Amino acid sequence: MEESLRRINEVVQKATLQARGSSLRRRKKRDPTRPSAKWVAPARVGREQGTALAIVLSTIGCAHARSDSGGCTMCSYLLDGVQEKPTSEQIVNQFKFAMAKLETKTAPLSVKIYTSGSFLDDEEIPAEARSKILRIIAEDERIREVVLESRPEYVNASILSDIRALLGDRAIEIGMGLESANDTVRTVCINKNFDLKMFTDALKTAKNFNIGMRAYVLLKPPLLTERDALLDAISTVQEARALGATTVSLNPVNVQKDTLVEKLWTRGNYRPPWLWSVVEVLREASSASDEWMKIVCDPVAGGKKRGAHNCGKCDNDIVEAIRQFSLSQDPALLQNLTCDCINQWEHVLKHEDISLVVHR
Ligand code: SF4
Ligand SMILES: [Zn+2]
Repeated sequence: MEESLRRINEVVQKATLQARGSSLRRRKKRDPTRPSAKWVAPARVGREQGTALAIVLSTIGCAHARSDSGGCTMCSYLLDGVQEKPTSEQIVNQFKFAMAKLETKTAPLSVKIYTSGSFLDDEEIPAEARSKILRIIAEDERIREVVLESRPEYVNASILSDIRALLGDRAIEIGMGLESANDTVRTVCINKNFDLKMFTDALKTAKNFNIGMRAYVLLKPPLLTERDALLDAISTVQEARALGATTVSLNPVNVQKDTLVEKLWTRGNYRPPWLWSVVEVLREASSASDEWMKIVCDPVAGGKKRGAHNCGKCDNDIVEAIRQFSLSQDPALLQNLTCDCINQWEHVLKHEDISLVVHR
């Protein structure tokens, strides 16, 4: 990393650590045999419509967020975790508990395992627990797709070959937060702590095992104007496609507790992205997309003041159109959306950096 970039990053890390404050110690006491969250939703599974189970396992949390580097500027996932490391058995019990939600569901099913960190990090998920969980999935013929999340430093040939061997010919994707293809944006605005090369290496390793890559793309990290954020997300989606990502999951920033983003937002120095910006990125992405890359988006807190929002009148319709597009991949659903506030959004795109005022 260049010296000047390293210095700016140090300042951002300090601010991120400060914002996180004592939230590490304030984590709630949780039953270590229960996941932090689980939900079932209709989803596109391969080329069919099916059902997806998403599970957030309760672990000690992301190593980057626990470290002195302070974690990412927009993320408070650490609060989902537990202070004491759960045993392998407890983690497997969390998984079994969540799987009960699929009892009555029919194929095709997708299982997404999140940990508020990295499923491939042995510190968070001991190898024994990981292989037991994957064996349970392997025994269920209805499950056609598995999504696991990890930072790139834990993606290596040995771990992926074990996963491939256990899951047979199921579609597998590793979800990784690329966030931005621009190293400066990822370092200064997000404090992600890895460079594009690490991401690309992990993606290539995954390809060798016929494992796809779900690239998370962040829309509107702090310290960027609406327009620069929009352009950055569009070029990141293009880069993800060029690298061979199998899915892009567009994540508009939402204001989470004890984060640098929340600090800036409270002071009036940050506004989550407009839903119009979300629609614009999806339109651009789908117009240039080939059939092999899916583009999905489920705006967390969409339409609310802590999430991507517009004027309040049109928000529900736009969020619904975004969700339907994610399910069907039909770009026609993103056409003909309109509201008077589109003029205000266009004004923001043109004038925010000139006026030097954050347009809320
Ligand atoms: S976004 Fe991912 S890598 Fe960053 S702190 Fe959160 S869990 Fe860790
Ligand atoms: Zn509106």
